[in-house]
Amino acid sequence: MNPLEMHITRRSIFAAALALTIGLAPASLTAAPKKYPYKATTTVGMVNDIVANVAGDKAVATAIMGAGVDPHLYKPTRDDVAAMIGSDVVFYSGLMLEGKMADTLVKIARNKPVFAVTELIEEKFLLEPEEFGGHFDPHVWMDPSAWAKAVEAVGKSLAEFDAKNAAAYKKNAAAYAATCEELHAYGKKVLATVPEGSRVLISSHDAFNYFGRAFGLKVMGVQGISTESEAGLQQINGLVDFIVQNGVKAVFVESSVSPKNIEALVGGVKARGKELKIGGELFSDAMGAAGTYEGTYLGMLDHNITLVARALGGEAPAKGFGGKLSHVQ
Ligand code: ZN
Repeated sequence: MNPLEMHITRRSIFAAALALTIGLAPASLTAAPKKYPYKATTTVGMVNDIVANVAGDKAVATAIMGAGVDPHLYKPTRDDVAAMIGSDVVFYSGLMLEGKMADTLVKIARNKPVFAVTELIEEKFLLEPEEFGGHFDPHVWMDPSAWAKAVEAVGKSLAEFDAKNAAAYKKNAAAYAATCEELHAYGKKVLATVPEGSRVLISSHDAFNYFGRAFGLKVMGVQGISTESEAGLQQINGLVDFIVQNGVKAVFVESSVSPKNIEALVGGVKARGKELKIGGELFSDAMGAAGTYEGTYLGMLDHNITLVARALGGEAPAKGFGGKLSHVQ
């Protein structure tokens, strides 16, 4: 089974479990914090960043998955399960991103409020690419304006869970969502400086559809292509043709995916006598190291936007939207 097929199978398995989770959530919303700060456990860093900011000093938010971890493949450990059982409220991203956590989340939802932040976003903000076989694309955080809807959803969920502090949650959510919109405007501005023929983002896997929609880039991923199989080689060759014919100057690796396929592309293009550079490492399904600017949601997206703009020949400040970036050349 190639990685794309596995991806789709994971989605199908999770679909059934997810329906249960959603069905169970309303009954558990009557729970309320017994003391402050209460404990919030989250799955990926992007969700944790929202919960930490929206809850403020009312909660301590802890993510299960750290930098460089692939959420599609992550299986919860006994410690993770204990952390969720010991917490007051749980947030996950949803749309089958955390495919191997489905059963655990269903069980946890029997006894405490469990919220899927992307499930609470209106469908009109979601993408349903053909190759996902009838499922929504889970990588919503790549569009800061759509992710702002997840922020509002967390504000509402926390207001239901802890009604006493509803006003604070809604205020914090509005401030965070406004910053997402500012970052979105920055992304549109700097990526519009990329020459029109170069607005193509080629990376390791299928995480950037929302990024492409947000900022007007054509997006191509090599996930699902195995360099071992003949078909995989044909598809790599197809991408090499595209790169040579369109004069694409840079492709990108991802912090949570092996760079093997991207290196094969670079080799293929060089064999045709053309130059292709690796434009740098993007954060796709995990944020940067904890304690750094890139280890926040805004820093992660700022890094991606600024790096892509500069590598594809556009103009963006080296230190990015927030003036805090450290890795972009
Ligand atoms: Zn992904």
